[in-house]
Amino acid sequence: MIPRILIISAALALAAACSEKSSDSTRNQSHNMDKSPPPANTLVVHTDAEWRKILSPEQYHILREAGTERAFGGAYEEFKQQGKGTYHCAACGALLFSSAQKFDSHCGWPSFYDPAKADNVITRDDYSLGGLRTEVICAKCGGHLGHVFKGEGFHTPTDKRYCINGGGLKFVPDEKP
Ligand code: FE
Repeated sequence: MIPRILIISAALALAAACSEKSSDSTRNQSHNMDKSPPPANTLVVHTDAEWRKILSPEQYHILREAGTERAFGGAYEEFKQQGKGTYHCAACGALLFSSAQKFDSHCGWPSFYDPAKADNVITRDDYSLGGLRTEVICAKCGGHLGHVFKGEGFHTPTDKRYCINGGGLKFVPDEKP
């Protein structure tokens, strides 16, 4: 026989854990002391092994491990040369950004002042480096894209800087007329 007090204690502990979890998912703002895993409630879902097959090692590091590419690297140089077109998630193809909102922030990473399709880009608090930053994530697959910073004094319509890893994006040029 299991003592009744133990059963009651276990039930209370479970209830507390569940309420904390639902509170976090409601706010969609988990406080992470570590690299946080991609959100689980996304439309495009693959196992970790499948993502490793789908993505290149660099793409996997950025999108699935919240990695950051080197500043002023190859992806940034390519970004600067690209003309009109759209930027899609390299993992799931979702439309994320457009050249219409692209600007040169001189920070060493592709920068946009707004998403092309706001529904496809979500944000959450990120404490992985100690202080608070706002992480930018693909809403469709949960892939890490970069961070967004506000109020830095850029003369753009939003004064936001979506600082995005170029290695997590796929550029699709506009068709020539
Ligand atoms: Fe995606």
